[in-house]
Amino acid sequence: MLPKFHMPTCVFMGENCLFEKTDFLKLGKKPIIITGKNSGTASGALPDVLKLLQENKMDYVVFDQIINNPTLENVDAAGIFAKESNADFVIAIGGGSPLDAAKAVSVLASNNISAKNLFDGEFKNKPLPIVAIPTTAGTGSEVTPYSILTVNSIESKRNFSSEYIFPKYAYLDAKYTENLPYNVCVNTAVDAFSHSLEGYLCNKSSVMTDYIALEAIKLFSECIKPILNKSLTFEIREKLLYMSMLSGIVIAHTGTTIVHGMGYNLTYFKNIPHGLANGLLLSEFLKFNYDTVFDKIESVFKALKIKDIFEFEGVMKSLISCNEVFTRDEILKYSSIAIASKSLPNNPKIPDLKDITEIYSKSLKLKEL
Ligand code: NAP
Ligand code: FE
Repeated sequence: MLPKFHMPTCVFMGENCLFEKTDFLKLGKKPIIITGKNSGTASGALPDVLKLLQENKMDYVVFDQIINNPTLENVDAAGIFAKESNADFVIAIGGGSPLDAAKAVSVLASNNISAKNLFDGEFKNKPLPIVAIPTTAGTGSEVTPYSILTVNSIESKRNFSSEYIFPKYAYLDAKYTENLPYNVCVNTAVDAFSHSLEGYLCNKSSVMTDYIALEAIKLFSECIKPILNKSLTFEIREKLLYMSMLSGIVIAHTGTTIVHGMGYNLTYFKNIPHGLANGLLLSEFLKFNYDTVFDKIESVFKALKIKDIFEFEGVMKSLISCNEVFTRDEILKYSSIAIASKSLPNNPKIPDLKDITEIYSKSLKLKEL
């Protein structure tokens, strides 16, 4: 019924929670702050963290060069800087890219390995403790044991996972998402929804993850109209951040499905943002799996307050769109990569190569010959 439920991250949520619960300052003497070029400052989280560190007369260093969909080279550079600086804990500020990069840095800073060895799964020394401050809502990376990195040598993304990279603390303050560009806000919300949907339908789901996933899906449903009307109040942003965290707890236990495995190719080869890439595939994914888990898919529709797959397709199209056009050869190439995805066995109905090609073809705009 419940094989295992392990959630070691201490989550604080609410406006100004960083200032009210300063427990993270006790994790060490000198943090390295890992963030992107803009997200740290644009969100307001970096100035808040710096203020607290300075008030407490703590030494720190900042690495603000994390790129979107971070590469092995990018996290290697951050890892070397963390080591040279003798940092003893990591503060991650940003969307999933800086949060995932920080998890890699926490391992690289305490071990004599380079980023390509992260996938070996075993580290001699314990990673540095991590504090996660998400500025998108989101990936849920603040409560997952995953770090997803771009590996150019295999032209794809790979994830490494360890219970030691669960952040020790996560601070969820919706004010840090207020300056998100609208399209990033929508795409990241769709990623979070995709996590709860995939986790709910996943072979590894349990009563506990199902309960959390359905709650997250209901919360997402309450946010759809405000997103479409662009009336993103603080309360809605808070709901999105909470829903994203719940969805992270779900995939921390279930993993994702072929939607993520297929979406990575759209991001790697066409630079389509992660959440958008997943969102484009969701309707066909549901159609493909309908006969196998129709009762669960009907529960999803009920939680979303929609009638059927046609209404679902309409909602997804109103939220996201993509003008990118794909050739038949591209679809075949992506399919041959996705079939080897680690998430394949998680699917309620296991797709073969032809099925994956069909899901891509029906979900994307194809180039006329
Ligand atoms: P992201 O790549 O972290 O950020 C997207 C863009 O939004 C960046 O340009 C970023 O700026 C900007 N941004 C972020 N927060 C902002 C704010 N508050 N105000 C203004 N701009 C802001 O996007 P994401 O969708 O959150 O993360 C995607 C990554 O997470 C992918 O690599 C994906 O594979 C991974 N992921 C991980 C998990 C997991 O469990 N670990 C789950 C799902 C996805 P900067 O460039 O300055 O940062
Ligand atoms: Fe995701």
